[in-house]
Amino acid sequence: MLYQRSSALFDEAQKYIPGGVNSPVRAFKSVGGVPVFMKSAKGAYLTDADDRNYVDYINSWGPAILGHTHPVVLEAIQKQAEHGFSYGTPTELETEIAKLIVDNVPNIDQIRMVSSGTEACMSAIRLARGFTGRDKIIKFDGCYHGHSDSFLIKAGSGAATFGNPNSPGVTKGTAQDTLIATYNDIENVADIFRHNQGEIAAVIVEPVAGNMGCVLPENNFLQNLKKVCQDNGALLIFDEVMTGFRLAFGGAQETFGVDADIVTFGKVIGGGMPVGAFAARQEIMDYLAPNGPVYQAGTLSGNPLAMRAGLTTLELIKSDKDFYNKINKTTETLDFEIGKILNEKGLKHRINRKGSMMSIFFETNKVSNFQEAYDSVYTCIFNNFFQQMLANGIYLPPSGYETWFISAAIQDAEIDKTLEAVRRFEF
Ligand code: PMP
Repeated sequence: MLYQRSSALFDEAQKYIPGGVNSPVRAFKSVGGVPVFMKSAKGAYLTDADDRNYVDYINSWGPAILGHTHPVVLEAIQKQAEHGFSYGTPTELETEIAKLIVDNVPNIDQIRMVSSGTEACMSAIRLARGFTGRDKIIKFDGCYHGHSDSFLIKAGSGAATFGNPNSPGVTKGTAQDTLIATYNDIENVADIFRHNQGEIAAVIVEPVAGNMGCVLPENNFLQNLKKVCQDNGALLIFDEVMTGFRLAFGGAQETFGVDADIVTFGKVIGGGMPVGAFAARQEIMDYLAPNGPVYQAGTLSGNPLAMRAGLTTLELIKSDKDFYNKINKTTETLDFEIGKILNEKGLKHRINRKGSMMSIFFETNKVSNFQEAYDSVYTCIFNNFFQQMLANGIYLPPSGYETWFISAAIQDAEIDKTLEAVRRFEF
C-alpha cells in the first residue's frame, strides 16, 4: 500500500486534531484518499512518512521559492538560533529586512511585520478604515485574504474547496461591511461604488488570484481598479501574500505598473518561517500604533529566526539577476509541455500562468473569475488527475482552487518526471 504509514498517522491525528489537520485543505477531503504525511523536504522534493519522494509543486503554498531547506538559509537560521529564539524587543535585524523591502517595493515607505498573511490583511483593512474613516471594503468573489471575519465572505482557497465560502461564526454586522465584486469586472466594481458613495474604505485584491486556481487580471483590470479607487477616495490594497517577491522583486506593482496604497506580504518574505507584513506610504503608516491611533501588535512579530530566514531568502533572490527569468522559464516549459500532452490526449483544458504561478482547469477554454473556475473544478477530472500524479510522485495542490508554486529547485530532471506522469494520466 502506497500510503500505509500516512494512513496510520492520519487515524491517530484525527483523534486529537480536528479533521487530523491544522489547516483544512491538507485533509484531502475534496480529492479523496489519505492525506500524505511528510517528514522532510530538500530542494525540489518532499519525503513522506513511507519514505516516498515527491516533486513538490506546492512548496509550502509559496514560501519555498528557492526550493526546500536551502543550505545558505539553513545555516543562517542555525546561527541565529544560537543567539536566542525570541526576545519581544526591537532588533537590528528587523530594520535590515524592513529596509531591504522598502527600498525594493514601489510606493511603500514603511512596513510592519506580523506572523501570517491573515494578520497582514486583517491589519491592512483596519488601517485603511482608520485612515479613511469609512467602514466598507470591496473584495472579489473567489479571492482569499486569510481567515479573519471580514474576508470569509465568498472566500476562495479551502473555504471554496469545502463549499463554505461564507463561514458560520461571522456576524451579520461584519458581513455587511464586505461588498463582493466579480474579478475582472470593473463595471461591477464601479457600480458598487455608485451605490455606496463615500462609504468604501478600500478595495482589496489578489493582483494575480491564486485562490480560485490561478486567475490573471485581464483588460487592464488592475489599472482600472486604481482609477476607480482614486476617483472615489478609497485605498487600493494589493494582497501580495502570494505574488510578493514571486512575480518580481517589486511584486505585482512592478509587474503590472500599478501603484497600490497598501501592500500585504507573507510566504516568501518569511523564507518558510511564519511571517506576514503590511506596508504603505508614510502618511498611511503614521496612523498605526504607537505613532497613530490604529492598534495592531504581536508577541512574535519580527521574530529573529523568522526575520533571518526571510532576509537570507530575499538576499539570495536579489543576488541572482536571472532568478525570475529562470523560474518563469521553468513554469513556461511546464505549461507548454503539459498542454501539449493533454491536447494529444484530447483533454479539453486551460492552463493559466503568470510568472511561477500556474494551474490547470479542465473542461474549459477560459477562466477569468470564480464562476468560471467553479464550473471547471467540479468536473472531477481534477481529482483523478491529482491522485494519479500523486501516485507517480508528483505533489500538486489537493484542490482545483489552488495554484502551483514553482521553485528554483525544479530542474530538467523534475520537469521530465512530471511530464512522464502527465503522459501516464488516464481519464
Ligand atoms: N492572502 C493570500 C493571497 C493568500 O494566498 C493567503 C494564504 N494562502 C493569505 C492571505 C493568508 O495567509 P496565511 O495563511 O499565512 O494566514
